[in-house]
Amino acid sequence: MSILDGCQEGKHTPMLQEIPCPVCGEVIEVFTKDGKAVADSECSKCKYVIKEGTTV
Ligand SMILES: [Zn+2]
Repeated sequence: MSILDGCQEGKHTPMLQEIPCPVCGEVIEVFTKDGKAVADSECSKCKYVIKEGTTV
């Protein structure tokens, strides 16, 4: 029981992923959960925004 709970908890914790910007290729750090961005993340170079809820 506790092992299963631990597994599910880990799966639902946001992860920091480095996603290449689709516009300029700069690496954008995006917090993701279940394969989706959990917050808007702006490219530091071209200001492209990966919106919350975007599949990454
Ligand atoms: Zn960019």
